[in-house]
Amino acid sequence: MLTDSHCHLDGLDLSSYDGDVHKAIAAARRKGVKYILSPGVTFEAFPEILKIVETDNDLFASVGVHPTEENVYQPTLTELITLGQNKKVVAVGETGLDFYYGKDEAKRKQQTSLFKLHIKAAQELNKPLIIHARDADQEIIEILTNEDAKTIGGVLHCFTGSLAMAEAAIDLGFYISFSGIITFRNAENLRNIAKKIPLEKMLIETDAPYLAPVPLRGKPNEPAYLPYIAEFMANLLNVSYESFTNQITENFLRFCKG
Ligand SMILES: [Zn+2]
Ligand SMILES: [Zn+2]
Repeated sequence: MLTDSHCHLDGLDLSSYDGDVHKAIAAARRKGVKYILSPGVTFEAFPEILKIVETDNDLFASVGVHPTEENVYQPTLTELITLGQNKKVVAVGETGLDFYYGKDEAKRKQQTSLFKLHIKAAQELNKPLIIHARDADQEIIEILTNEDAKTIGGVLHCFTGSLAMAEAAIDLGFYISFSGIITFRNAENLRNIAKKIPLEKMLIETDAPYLAPVPLRGKPNEPAYLPYIAEFMANLLNVSYESFTNQITENFLRFCKG
């Protein structure tokens, strides 16, 4: 049984599914994918995500505004908490810092205050955080520590950071989620890090429609491609496919409980 902990169901390329996201979900189900979390990226897109996940007990959402979404509605704490109370919402995010895009000081300030707002909302809701991290490892760990995010924990999604960052995050009660990047030829460093992460602290994700795994790299990604990542990871870690995927699903359900 597989779990896709990060898949943008509202952003999939549905051209081979008659434009119907539920057909794409059904295709994933035929490959053994049971649970899917579709993360929030903007408030504008949130109702569409809710509409998709509300139809199915095994689909979940999170609420948040992505750090690179600077030109969308910027919510207040109360608004985040209000949407976060929905029972289909199991986490707060995507939030975090993306200093690859946010190069200038003003953008970094804006991202930082939005990040702290999400941490507060997650603490009020007692739900875990979904963290997007790019070129800001140290800053993220510093903020999570100072804001006492250990009380709620969460996940570093689409992990590409250092071993030191992974270990610091695990100490703060976070999971480390690996995407199709782990299958890329040049990801040797990431593979070496993955081997050092305790299995019970791992999640996996497609991050569809982005980052399709090898051998489909470059194509639009979809949740039905998750088995390529799971198989690759099980081989890398030298465990059976079944025990790996069951452990990942157990981790995900534990993550959802916060
Ligand atoms: Zn992200
Ligand atoms: Zn994402």
